[in-house]
Amino acid sequence: MLKAAAFAAQRHRAQKRKGAAQAPYFNHLIEVADLLWRVGGVREMVTLIAALLHDVVEDTGVSPAELEAAFGAEVCALVLEVSDDKSLPKARRKQLQIEHAPHLSRRARLIKLADKISNLHDLINDPPPDWSDERKLEYFRWARQVVDAGLRGVNPALEALFEATYAEGIKLLEEGTA
Ligand code: NDP
Ligand code: ZN
Repeated sequence: MLKAAAFAAQRHRAQKRKGAAQAPYFNHLIEVADLLWRVGGVREMVTLIAALLHDVVEDTGVSPAELEAAFGAEVCALVLEVSDDKSLPKARRKQLQIEHAPHLSRRARLIKLADKISNLHDLINDPPPDWSDERKLEYFRWARQVVDAGLRGVNPALEALFEATYAEGIKLLEEGTA
């Protein structure tokens, strides 16, 4: 796990989150792994390691071959399972997340659930400064569609935190746009 944390920190080193605080990208990866461990009670190393590496193929161009050589076939397959195909247009990628959700493995569902919680959390606490409330609402609703389509039934605690975070964000945003 520490090797995965060091690898992710190194490969994402030049990237920041999109919020005004410009937090290091790595904060998101630690948050996803921490949500799995602390809220979800997840103790499986493969899942926790893949959580730390979940954006490394999508966002840093690490090849599947390099990932497999460093962390093994199981971790590599799981990271690929939660990675979007960046060659597709954004709207298509978002639609595919909804379509693919019901077919994901249990471990991939756990990572996706924690990833969505982390992103909603960031949209509430440190949103991209150029996003309108409508755009944030759109993201919240899309995240909920992905969860409803196929991320339920694997971890009640994470599901409950998703619900609470979703409700908190929707309330704030609907107050803002009312
Ligand atoms: P992006 O996919 O560009 O951004 C969201 C992603 O950025 C998250 O999934 C997360 O991914 C990452 N991220 C980094 N920092 C943050 C942060 N602080 N808070 C939350 N997420 C963060 O945006 P969209 O999801 O909006 O995708 C583009 C879509 O939006 C298009 O389909 C387009 O149609 C639509 N659009 C809507 C507009 C509007 O005003 N309504 C305007 C422009 C586009 P990760 O987990 O990988 O880090
Ligand atoms: Zn992510």
